[in-house]
Amino acid sequence: MQPKEDILTYLLDILSRDMPASVLNAWFDDAEILSLTEDTLTLLTSTELKRGIILSRYSKPVTDALFELFGTPMKLEVTLERTAPSKQDSCGIREFGFENFVVGDSNKFAAAAAKAVAESPGQAYNPLFIYGGSGLGKTHLLYAIMNFIRASHPEYQMRVFSAELFTNDLVNALQNKKTHEFHDKYRSADLLLVDDIQFIGGRNFSQEEFFHTFNTLYDAGHQIVLTSDRPPKEVPALEDRLRTRFESGLIVDIQPPDFETRMAIVKSKAQRMGLLLPDDVVLYLATSVTANVRQLEGTVKKIVAWRDLLHSPVDVTTAEKAIADLMRENPGLNPTPDMIISEVSAFYGVEERDILGKNRQADIVTARQICMYLVRSLTSMSLKEIGTKVFRRDHTTVMYAVEKVEEMRGTDDAFDKTINLLMENIRGK
Ligand code: ADP
Ligand code: MG
Repeated sequence: MQPKEDILTYLLDILSRDMPASVLNAWFDDAEILSLTEDTLTLLTSTELKRGIILSRYSKPVTDALFELFGTPMKLEVTLERTAPSKQDSCGIREFGFENFVVGDSNKFAAAAAKAVAESPGQAYNPLFIYGGSGLGKTHLLYAIMNFIRASHPEYQMRVFSAELFTNDLVNALQNKKTHEFHDKYRSADLLLVDDIQFIGGRNFSQEEFFHTFNTLYDAGHQIVLTSDRPPKEVPALEDRLRTRFESGLIVDIQPPDFETRMAIVKSKAQRMGLLLPDDVVLYLATSVTANVRQLEGTVKKIVAWRDLLHSPVDVTTAEKAIADLMRENPGLNPTPDMIISEVSAFYGVEERDILGKNRQADIVTARQICMYLVRSLTSMSLKEIGTKVFRRDHTTVMYAVEKVEEMRGTDDAFDKTINLLMENIRGK
């Protein structure tokens, strides 16, 4: 794999979190990285129009994404120096397939249902409704279905869009008196793949329109797949008639991956990025980043980027820095056990090795129990994982600590405030 090409893929992946990949693809489809220096990325594109659009609309998102990737401010330049050959595959969407979706207990039903639908559209489960927390692979599965069907039924008209885009498109159609075209576009599809349908809640004209689109396709026996961050009954301000439609097929959820699946995901992502990760780094990542696959993948990407650009060693120290860096940029992400232990250690003036050790001195035991409690509250690790992977203790010890801290929070106001403060500090890191 060419590192430069990788970087473009990462860049587009980051951009596609906030904008529809179809739109990105229109402007970046044949973009290539011409050069990459310490402070400038130069892209090559094929037309003056694309160059203009990239510079005017995407400068800020691209430089933000570069900052996220490399952790230093970089400029974007775009040139037309030579006409690049058309390269459809440069966009990240193609990367989402069943073959690179790692299956574990947490997602096996969703993956199996998605595969069944891709193999027999309209005949397996209709509609298929996939829900789960952020960064757990919903969009990946949706695009995997799309890519699979694109290969097996190239003649199918697929509409792949987010509820957000649907609403915007509808607003435009209404403004430009193009509702007829709008109906045609969506209702003539053989397949409807809708990402983040929860955003349709509360937007009444959108819901009305989507209801008719849904019925038209459904009645014709055409496949509909929906993803959402929550089950239909929890989508706020969703009309009942839509909710019952969404619930009429198969509903599957995706949970955060367990430890083994996280190990497999780290290995698979690293391998695809041409990175050889030593076992201790794989273990470290799978233990530390627990709630979100996007965060896990982002860390691996960062390690690759640092290796390529800064020649950083691929080791646990770099991994630790990469996780911290990613969290600084995305405050919503989950802290690692290490971060929690280090914060509690500094706060109580107790050595980290004592927290992790066996010393029974009262202040050390308290700090240790608070750490166990915070790891349990702020990550998605199970009691058993916290026991074996972090503290080398039985899960009942962790359970006892969690219960004890919970009880103290309930009875001691000052203690409760301290815990809240600690949580804020850890999150703000
Ligand atoms: P969501 O739509 O649920 O927020 P995404 O589908 O965008 O999450 O997934 C976030 C990132 O994590 C993507 O790059 C995706 O490829 C990756 N990912 C999630 N789950 C898996 C998995 N089981 N195997 C491999 N990659 C995964
Ligand atoms: Mg998504």
